[in-house]
Amino acid sequence: MRILCLLILILLAPVFTLAQSEQFEMVKVAEDVYAAIRKEPPGLTVNGNSVFIINDRDVIVVDTTLTPGTAKEELAALRRLTNKPVTYVINTHWHDDHIMGNQVYRDAFPHAEFIAHVKTREYLPTTGLANRKQAMAPDGYPAFINFLRSLLERNKKQSGEPLSAEERSTYASDLEIAESYMAENPGVEIVLPTITLDDRLTLYRGERTIDIRYLGRGHTSGDIVVYLQKEGVVITGDLVILPVPYVGDPQSHPGDWSATLQRLIALHASVIIPGHGPVLRDDSYLQLMSRLFASIREQVEAAVRRGETLEQTRKSVKLDEFRKTFVGESPVRRAIFANYVIGPAVAAAFHDASCKADC
Ligand SMILES: [Zn+2]
Repeated sequence: MRILCLLILILLAPVFTLAQSEQFEMVKVAEDVYAAIRKEPPGLTVNGNSVFIINDRDVIVVDTTLTPGTAKEELAALRRLTNKPVTYVINTHWHDDHIMGNQVYRDAFPHAEFIAHVKTREYLPTTGLANRKQAMAPDGYPAFINFLRSLLERNKKQSGEPLSAEERSTYASDLEIAESYMAENPGVEIVLPTITLDDRLTLYRGERTIDIRYLGRGHTSGDIVVYLQKEGVVITGDLVILPVPYVGDPQSHPGDWSATLQRLIALHASVIIPGHGPVLRDDSYLQLMSRLFASIREQVEAAVRRGETLEQTRKSVKLDEFRKTFVGESPVRRAIFANYVIGPAVAAAFHDASCKADC
């Protein structure tokens, strides 16, 4: 549990590179707009989607994956589409699975600017640095790697039951991701945003308008979305994650997340590119996430009004119906829902609901 908590501080998502075929699919979502959708199974650790917006004279990249190795693979795929230079890299938020490839773009395009929310700029050299050091310490990723290796070697869960095929492939992917993180990321130089926004920043490129917006707190306090109105495309970062949202305590704000998602839905995009998972063509999953977070907020606020402690609130909040909908029969999703939704979301919502000032 402590390992999972550490990991959630640092990413909430990753991929391995060598000896494997590319672990992403380039999906054309509009004319000259391509999403690199990660193919690793949803697990305890993951890599993030990226998007390439090819304009008349340049390219804008949204999010840069968990490791330089995977960013290089995606840059090579971009090069097969165009030789135009990357001029802007937008980071939707500060987690490692969205920023650790920044260095690759900075090295390849020394004049590129890096855009993010002002909170991302504040977080990366402070809390982010401390959390990354913790993740790389022996009880962070190295302990997680040992845990996964022993699970796979024994082929048994902690309960003694054998691993299912889904569990084996997920933990094998988690292991590769964790190993590539430790192999590559200790040497990575964090590239900070060179341009920040609080609320909104618009780029104009020929006929294209790239609208970068802050819609409110959710996965973090610095989530931004990239909206191409004419194309009907929105790039959401981790405000939207499939098949189960990842919530961090204390970094996420589940109490605000539902309203933020409603602002996202109100953009009426016909193509929604999530931070993790496949491209969506309608808002039904966003509505489901919104209902989940509205329910968490409502239940936690009621518990706080009754004067319950966090431990009592954990018991009184009921999310069984949502768990069935998100998890289905999958034990892996069940573990993700328990570790990345129920535990941290109730705690983070409790913190925000109990907070009187400066929250
Ligand atoms: Zn992520």
